[in-house]
Amino acid sequence: MVEQNLRPDVVVFDCDGVLVDAVSSWRTLHDAFGTDNALNLNRFIRGEISDVEFMRSDIQMWKAVVNPIHRDDLFRAYAGVALMPGAREVVAKLQDAGVFVAIVSAGVDLFVSSIASMLKVDDWIANGFVFDEEGYLTDEGVCRLHATGKGEIITKLLKMNDLDVARCVSVGDSEMDLSMHVEGSRFIGFNPSRDSSVEAFARAAVPVVVEKNLRAILPLLGFDDD
Ligand SMILES: [Mg+2]
Repeated sequence: MVEQNLRPDVVVFDCDGVLVDAVSSWRTLHDAFGTDNALNLNRFIRGEISDVEFMRSDIQMWKAVVNPIHRDDLFRAYAGVALMPGAREVVAKLQDAGVFVAIVSAGVDLFVSSIASMLKVDDWIANGFVFDEEGYLTDEGVCRLHATGKGEIITKLLKMNDLDVARCVSVGDSEMDLSMHVEGSRFIGFNPSRDSSVEAFARAAVPVVVEKNLRAILPLLGFDDD
């Protein structure tokens, strides 16, 4: 039997690489358009360009390939992306036990919203796009949260729903997700995909699950993993 006192009141998931089996919902769009924005990704990670500038550069690259771009074209790019094995069961199990489940993602809202409704989570937030009245992509993105600033969002979410930080667990797959580790809460590293993520999780001394099935986090949350 696992320890029931480990059970949280709220679990906050990163989306890309945690609830879905794809590293980045931005990357999925680049793959669909045959573009590569690695240069600006590195500039963004180094803090040389802002989220808004980064999103604008993504959109410019895609529009250089296809213009105009309809919302449906973007949505179609996600057709091949699968949920992480176990995601549906884990979210259902948590919610059945009265746990509040949220998604805090710096990924694409168009995609994250579909995952949120598929899994019926209690709340979600992501970055994304602006479309005109006919559904065509405009030149600017919407930045609702910074990939390294997820903690502020989680703190707000806890306050809004009257939840205790000590009863909060976040789950992420990258070093940027360590910003979800609000003081007093717990964090679980899930399948870190980059070496830098593996190293960052080790430095932060957080528990790490290395199994491509979300059920593997259940014992850390005080649930049996069946
Ligand atoms: Mg991720």
